[in-house]
Amino acid sequence: MKDLDPKLVSFDACFHDGFAPQRNKEMWSPEVFHYLSKLSNDKTTYSTFSSSKIVTEGLKQNDFQAQKIKGFGNKRHMTKASRGKKRNRKNDTSKKDVAIIGAGIAGCTLAKKLIDKGHNVTIFEKNGDFDKGPSGFEALVVYPRLSAFNTPYSHFCLHSYLYSTKYYDALKTSHWNKTGVLLLDFNETTHKRFNDLLKARQDEKIFKKVSRDVASSMAGISVPNSGLYFKDAGWLNPKNFIKDLLNNSEINFILQEVKKITKTKVYIEDNEYSFDHICLCSSFESNKLIDLKGIRKKRGQITYLSKKLDIANLKIPICAEGYISPTSKDFLITGSTYSNSFSEKATLEDDLINIQKLKLITDRKVKVIGSDYGYRSTTQDHLPLVGKSKDIFINISHGSRGTTSAPISAQFICDLIDGSPPIFGKEMIKSLSPERFTE
Ligand SMILES: Cc1cc2nc3c(=O)[nH]c(=O)nc-3n(C[C@H](O)[C@H](O)[C@H](O)COP(=O)(O)OP(=O)(O)OC[C@H]3O[C@@H](n4cnc5c(N)ncnc54)[C@H](O)[C@@H]3O)c2cc1C
Repeated sequence: MKDLDPKLVSFDACFHDGFAPQRNKEMWSPEVFHYLSKLSNDKTTYSTFSSSKIVTEGLKQNDFQAQKIKGFGNKRHMTKASRGKKRNRKNDTSKKDVAIIGAGIAGCTLAKKLIDKGHNVTIFEKNGDFDKGPSGFEALVVYPRLSAFNTPYSHFCLHSYLYSTKYYDALKTSHWNKTGVLLLDFNETTHKRFNDLLKARQDEKIFKKVSRDVASSMAGISVPNSGLYFKDAGWLNPKNFIKDLLNNSEINFILQEVKKITKTKVYIEDNEYSFDHICLCSSFESNKLIDLKGIRKKRGQITYLSKKLDIANLKIPICAEGYISPTSKDFLITGSTYSNSFSEKATLEDDLINIQKLKLITDRKVKVIGSDYGYRSTTQDHLPLVGKSKDIFINISHGSRGTTSAPISAQFICDLIDGSPPIFGKEMIKSLSPERFTE
């Protein structure tokens, strides 16, 4: 309880089951009742099998009205309690009007969460071709960048991956392809990283080592190395996924660029709208609306390959230095570049970089039939900016892993807006804070 932030969490009902107070003193200490009180709201109810004086006193000293009542089952007495007096803080779960700026995967997954919770949602999107941005590619690979080290980044990667794959499964969307993903062991660094991972996690629940032959048969094409296979991973068609989210729900969609925001107002060209809350999901462009530190803009290009040659049988995404993925169209995607360039057209140079990276996956002949590019918003520590800054909710900088990190981030913002217990603990909330790069 010590680790929970009372600004973010409050209990509705508490059942205290800590054996008898005489036998298990720590569970009935004044400290426990103190934190219980801090984490309660006006309507919190409390019950326990114990009717000991320690319990009633602990409750009374912390703003509860306690009653000894007839016991349950073979207990003669038990204690129940409720809040004795009104306090200022309330657990606000009422319906809110929320504005979301940006209709990429971050904005649309958040909109869906909020609508499902009964809130009113308006999305502002400035770009009529918004499904042509990075959230509008034909395929993005959903897999985690795990490491055996105990860092906030590796925790976030693991949790967001587990959350996102279950999230897409639960939506039963046809745009989610849970094919499994293969990570090739192609150099000394991957060899060491994979070995550390295999030592740290031997249960094969998340990934398992596969030989080159097994990897080739899973992939549908011959690969040069052994690797790690993530069975619950896959690829998403974000373009159609987003279109479905926008078409099928009660989201109010406004195709306009947001020029200015305040805590509760959104300004477009010649109009202004009022909301209870505003959430920026506008990637690297969020800086035009609010001063946020630590955001970087990185260009990336993907290359489309004809499905007609030797690699036509590819069944699952394969990642090495770059990646190759199936799509639902008549081509495969390989990528991607990562640069500081701001070139506003796809370049031959970037296609060649992608083809060079692909050589670590297959030496088969490929035919380039097109390319596309987009911009990622990234940070120095590779974690997104998710939380609240200057009374505005922020959900941006999903870097190269938006399909994995957007669903859990949407859940967190939704928890904050709802006043529900947040999906992240205190440390993770700090690690994701949009203000962490501010001096
Ligand atoms: C080449 C490349 C390959 C990638 N490969 C993968 C991959 O395999 N797997 C993966 O998970 N991720 C991948 N990514 C990353 C992924 O695409 C991003 O993480 C994700 O798309 C980010 O989504 P978003 O909603 O945060 O931002 P975006 O999709 O950029 O959406 C932001 C939206 O906000 C709108 N906007 C901005 N300012 C305003 C304003 N003032 N008013 C109204 N609207 C505004 C923009 O028009 C835009 O539509 C890749 C990215 C690139 C570039």
